[in-house]
Amino acid sequence: MSRFADRVVLVTGAASGLGLATARLFASEGASLVLVDIDGAKLEKAKVEIEELGAHVVTHTGDVSKPITARSAVELTEATFGKLDVLFNNAAICPLTATALIETSDEMWDQVIDINVKSVFLFCKAAIPLLIKTGGGSIVTTASTAGLKASPRESVYGISKAALIQMTKSLARDHAKDKIRANCICPGFLEAVMTDRRAEMTSDALVKRRARASELVPLGREGGYEEVARSVAFLASELESSYITGAAVVIDGGFTVV
Ligand code: NAD
Repeated sequence: MSRFADRVVLVTGAASGLGLATARLFASEGASLVLVDIDGAKLEKAKVEIEELGAHVVTHTGDVSKPITARSAVELTEATFGKLDVLFNNAAICPLTATALIETSDEMWDQVIDINVKSVFLFCKAAIPLLIKTGGGSIVTTASTAGLKASPRESVYGISKAALIQMTKSLARDHAKDKIRANCICPGFLEAVMTDRRAEMTSDALVKRRARASELVPLGREGGYEEVARSVAFLASELESSYITGAAVVIDGGFTVV
């Protein structure tokens, strides 16, 4: 199947986890890719892997919370491919913070809000003119079930993800006239903890997380990156989700229904 033949897709946080799995899926279905991440070495490895699937891939290394990164990545997209069809806003961090919100440091607040929320604002601001020039397209943003319910020691992260759910609705309303759809996904427990948190977690803590997921999730397990990537591709595909915009698609094995 080649749902994305001739399509150009920009993915942030593309060097690992969900971003990499989604880039792989888009590439395997014919897309050309612009991959953005702060980790240049991992990003180059991802590029080689995705090129092996036959895709045309360019990369941009930078911090997504900086306006220059968003502008440069979109300029690179236009210079290389002349258009953009899909923007996948996926980069984020998830540091464990203080138990109570008021104990969170000002620096931690700024860092999480800048990387998780401001980055999406900046990438949309830079990319939407090119999406319009292309004739429309799809924006998919990775939020989280943490934006729907409050988890201990994740208050700023949860607040950042809730903001993305609302940003998705604003984008959907403002740009329907431009033939741009905007949706977000809310994954629950995924198969790996995020890179920035991995260093803080012992293997014992990881085993406990897995056990906790099987207890709390009705389907009894963590979600696979490939499973979530398929939902991103569905929301990116005009053929399959042409009447879906402003939605927050929950992909959590039932975690939030109980
Ligand atoms: P990950 O850590 O493997 O991937 C995140 C990527 O973003 C990394 O490659 C990292 O280098 C990059 N990144 C971080 N800060 C950046 C910055 N300032 N500028 C540019 N790139 C930056 O984690 P993941 O599990 O693949 O997470 C992907 C998305 O899924 C995130 O938005 C996350 O919040 C969300 N999510 C993850 C889980 C989970 O359990 N892993 C659950 C729900 C939602």
